[in-house]
Amino acid sequence: MYYSPIKMKELLNKHGFNLKKIYGQNFIIDENIITNIINAANIDKETLVIEIGPGAGSLTYKLSEKAKNVICYEIDTTLKEVLNETLKEKENVEIVYQDFLKANVLEQIKKYEYKKLYVVANLPYYITTPIIIKIIEDNIKVDKMVVMVQKEVGDRFKATPGSKDYSSLSVFLNYYFDVKKLLDISKNVFLPKPNVDSIVVEFKKKENLKEVTNKELFFKLIRDAFKQKRKTLKNNLKEYNLLKIEEILKKYNYDLSVRAEQLTIDIFIEIANNLKEENKC
Ligand code: SAM
Repeated sequence: MYYSPIKMKELLNKHGFNLKKIYGQNFIIDENIITNIINAANIDKETLVIEIGPGAGSLTYKLSEKAKNVICYEIDTTLKEVLNETLKEKENVEIVYQDFLKANVLEQIKKYEYKKLYVVANLPYYITTPIIIKIIEDNIKVDKMVVMVQKEVGDRFKATPGSKDYSSLSVFLNYYFDVKKLLDISKNVFLPKPNVDSIVVEFKKKENLKEVTNKELFFKLIRDAFKQKRKTLKNNLKEYNLLKIEEILKKYNYDLSVRAEQLTIDIFIEIANNLKEENKC
C-alpha cells in the first residue's frame, strides 16, 4: 500500500486524482495509525465491516486482511481508478459508489453471512453526526463502531452529565452505546493536513437496553430538554406535565430549576416512561 506522503501523492497523480475538500478528503498516510485503529477494533473472520469513505483504500486494505468481508461506500466516483489499483487483490471487498446517507444499507448487507457487524471508518468530517444518526435511525444493527472523528465532535459524543459538551446527541448515543475514546490522532498523519486534531471513538452496543415505553416521546423529551441549553427544565419543558416531572426529579434531589445538562440518561428514561402519550406534542 501507499503509506507515505510521497507514495500517496505519486499514486493520486498517476490517476489524475485531485483531493476534494467538499468531500472531507483527508487521507491517512501513516501505517502505524491504521494498524492501531485496526487492532483497537478487534476484528476477526466472523466480522462484516462497513467502511464509509475508503478514499485511496489505505484503511480498507488492512481491514480486508482481518475481516470476513468489507463493504465500503464512496461518494466520489473519480476514486474508482485509484481503488481498482490499491484493492485489486482484495476479493472480500465490495465498493458501492454512492452517498452513504442515501444508501439502503440493510438491503445491501443482506447477501452477507456474518456473526458481527462493525463500522470502521475515518469519517468525512462534514457529515460525521448525520452518518451516526443514520446508522441508528435505519436500525442497522451494528455491534461496534470504531470511527475517527474531529476531536471536538468526539468530545460531544462521549460527554457525560455536567460537562460542557453534554448534549441531546450524547444522551441519544449513550442510550444505545457505551462510548469511549480509543486514540488521539495528530493532524500530521493526513494528506492534506487538516486544521484540527482527531480522535478515534468506539461505540459498543449496550447489551441490555433500558426499557423505554415510547421511544418517540423519549427522544422528543430529550431534544426539548436541551432546546435552550442555558435554560431550566421548567422553561424548556413548558408543554409537558411539569408536576409529574418534578415528582421524579425530587427522588434525585433536583427540582425544575435543574438544566438538562445535569441529568443522566436514567433520569430521562424514568421521566419519559412516566409521561402520558398526550405529552408527545
Ligand atoms: N478512509 C480514507 C483514509 O482514511 O485515508 C479516506 C477518509 S476521508 C476523511 C473521507 C472519505 O469519505 C473520502 O474518501 C470521501 O470522498 C468520502 N465521502 C465523503 N462524503 C461521503 C458520503 N456522503 N458517502 C460516502 N463517502 C463519502
